[in-house]
Amino acid sequence: MASYLPATMQAQVLTSFNAPYELTILPIPTPTDHDLLIKFAGTIVSAGPLAFSAMPSLRVGTRVGVPGRSYRPCTKCWECTNNDDDPKGYSVACPKGENLGITRDGGFQQYALVDVRQVAKIPDELTDVEAAPLMCAGLTIFSALLKCGLKEGGKVGIIGCGGGLGHLGLQFGVRMGFEVIGVDASDNALKLARNLETKAKIFDARLTKTEAFQQGFDYGMNLLRNHGKCVVLSFPASGFQVSATDLVFRDVQVLGSLVGKNRVLKQMLAFAAEKNVRAVTRTYPLRELNELVEVYKEGKGGKLVIDMTL
Ligand SMILES: [Zn+2]
Repeated sequence: MASYLPATMQAQVLTSFNAPYELTILPIPTPTDHDLLIKFAGTIVSAGPLAFSAMPSLRVGTRVGVPGRSYRPCTKCWECTNNDDDPKGYSVACPKGENLGITRDGGFQQYALVDVRQVAKIPDELTDVEAAPLMCAGLTIFSALLKCGLKEGGKVGIIGCGGGLGHLGLQFGVRMGFEVIGVDASDNALKLARNLETKAKIFDARLTKTEAFQQGFDYGMNLLRNHGKCVVLSFPASGFQVSATDLVFRDVQVLGSLVGKNRVLKQMLAFAAEKNVRAVTRTYPLRELNELVEVYKEGKGGKLVIDMTL
């Protein structure tokens, strides 16, 4: 580890379920193997012995962003060896890869260990606060839009268009050249979506009484044309039902999508920088993470970001 680093850092830690985060002092970890040690927001401060040979374009001082998946994948399974041009032996879908913020420490700390194959360089056009929501929500919705396989001028509907993913999807979709229809069901979300002034058409789903997830899903399926694709990005605990009639008689496809490949992450960041795709954000200092959580539960739309400079 570089000698100028302090020995300890501030970290917000969850010690049990359904409890608030606790602001704690922890030792700064040491990178090994393919690790990068990054100082938030995103500057590489040191690296494990295999890191820079795996990603030669990166060095100490480079500003990178990191999605949660996949830390130290197995490098040998089907996913890791059929990875569609991601770094060699690396897949975000490896079942043995760990997840930052779930199976390992995540980003609510001043320094973090990440896998060099997870990250992408942040374009100069994007500030740290602008880049943060793109690393999960931006990548997820961008990747899902690519999965639709639409040509320029194709139609896409975004159910939940004022949410964290949805409002980025409106911007990405319109700037990819699609005809975008956005749907949401609360005043705040609809206002946020309309204020973006993309060319998407925005509809209030409350006109047709959509309340529970199943009704929202059915609403989306009814909007979908025959032979269309429904890409599911949310995962309610109770699941949802798909009509066999929609699958068989209407030839509708239902797909899921979870974040995206490292290759797509780089593509998405370049697109967002060039086409001015920006999340609507509200920022909080690290010490006020629990306040952020309370506002998140209110579901006001847009993205809530921890700004390490506050
Ligand atoms: Zn694997």
